[in-house]
Amino acid sequence: MVLYLIVTGMIIVFFVAPAWFAFRREEAEARVLLDEAMAAGTHEPSTIYPWVNPSLCMGSGTCVSVCPEDAVLQVVEGRARLVNGSECVGHGVCAAACPTQAIELRFGTERRGVDIPALDSEFQTNVPGIYVVGELGGMGLIANAVRQGVEAVGYIAGTLPKRVGGALDIIIVGGGPAGIGASLEATRRGLSHVVIEQDELGGSIRHFPRQKIVMSHGLTLPGLPPVASATISKEELVDLLLNAAAEAKLPICERETVLSVSRLSDGVFEVQTSKRFPRAMRVLLAVGRRGSPRKLGVAGEDLSKVAYRLLDPELIQHSHVLVVGGGDSAIEAACSIADYPTNRVTIAYRGDNFGRAKAGNRARLEAAVAAGSLVVMWKSEVSSITPDRVFLTTPEGEKVIPNDLVFVFAGGVLPTSFLLAAGVEVERHFGERVETLDSTHGHE
Ligand SMILES: Cc1cc2nc3c(=O)[nH]c(=O)nc-3n(C[C@H](O)[C@H](O)[C@H](O)COP(=O)(O)OP(=O)(O)OC[C@H]3O[C@@H](n4cnc5c(N)ncnc54)[C@H](O)[C@@H]3O)c2cc1C
Repeated sequence: MVLYLIVTGMIIVFFVAPAWFAFRREEAEARVLLDEAMAAGTHEPSTIYPWVNPSLCMGSGTCVSVCPEDAVLQVVEGRARLVNGSECVGHGVCAAACPTQAIELRFGTERRGVDIPALDSEFQTNVPGIYVVGELGGMGLIANAVRQGVEAVGYIAGTLPKRVGGALDIIIVGGGPAGIGASLEATRRGLSHVVIEQDELGGSIRHFPRQKIVMSHGLTLPGLPPVASATISKEELVDLLLNAAAEAKLPICERETVLSVSRLSDGVFEVQTSKRFPRAMRVLLAVGRRGSPRKLGVAGEDLSKVAYRLLDPELIQHSHVLVVGGGDSAIEAACSIADYPTNRVTIAYRGDNFGRAKAGNRARLEAAVAAGSLVVMWKSEVSSITPDRVFLTTPEGEKVIPNDLVFVFAGGVLPTSFLLAAGVEVERHFGERVETLDSTHGHE
């Protein structure tokens, strides 16, 4: 009996108690993450996200461990909860792995609707001849985007009318994974086309603030062997896409923005870009959901020193830098540049706190401010930019600071108005279930 009590006591002391304390600590940490995400608003998903049925979830934590993203889900008070919903990119592995089928993928929440173009099963919008593929159609993931681009071109090829005048077969708008997949397929089928990309070929991948890309649904580019590895670095993936494009001699026009799409009386589409008015029998929109960077609309913004993203902070030295914005991207960029001590960095933000940003980024910023490598100008707005200065409106009046570079992180202008102007109907989703991630048809 004594021996039994001793053994039981030892099991409790050495195994049960540590496990219980570890569990309580993880729960407490998850609660903190959830509170922080709610305070910063990052718990709200931007499009697709895992909805957890609380009456089916038993808090196994399987979804948390299989999710390749950072703290999208956490177990809080015995149930999986959506924590960083805005980080969800739609891998869907949580739903597949849940032992009690408590998770389903949904578009939009009851509070925050998500606008998605209405499409038929062949990716065609309500405007016959205008197609939508990739993230714009609501379905995330690189592999899905490529696959949808390829499939849509197949459908277009099957119904393509004879070309009128000098029109092309297809104009593909957007050079991300969906646009590249579509262009590879169009080339394979001998269709005359062009890809118009407002930035550089590659799409959202180029803007990822991280190195590791997870291929939870294997990637296959037309004419190339499938990408075998489940993870790939950002550089490797960009190289893969660029090499495929170069090899196939894809007709890509970079740094050209599509401003509108309209149908002429002869049924041909005319696309207005920032440079010209090309025409085609079909238009394939693969513009993703990031939209175009929101501009400040001030004098001097067209100077080459003004940029809307930061790629290589290590190349910036001995510079006066202004970063505009108050979100995570602005803070991360400002801190990365301020890490190089020869730079002088200022953040101009029209708000009076960084409540929208992640706690880690706020802490990094406070440390940089305390170290004197970064200055924050609250409630300030840029009024004009000159080659060597920036003029700001502040509560204390106009301020002029020396400047070599300006980085603007003022969010993006979503493509919704662009779609509506083209006559494409958009449906607002408030939490509808996504039938299957493996479906290439997004939301039939
Ligand atoms: C932070 C983050 C991490 C992610 N991680 C992963 C991951 O690990 N694995 C994964 O599979 N997926 C991941 N995703 C999702 C993946 O990036 C997208 O699903 C995929 O890039 C969608 O491809 P797309 O071609 O539809 O759109 P995009 O990649 O967004 O490409 C759209 C292109 O259209 C261009 N464009 C937009 N408007 C215009 C216009 N008016 N005129 C001309 N061009 C225009 C844009 O410049 C852009 O190049 C992640 C997403 C984010 C934001």
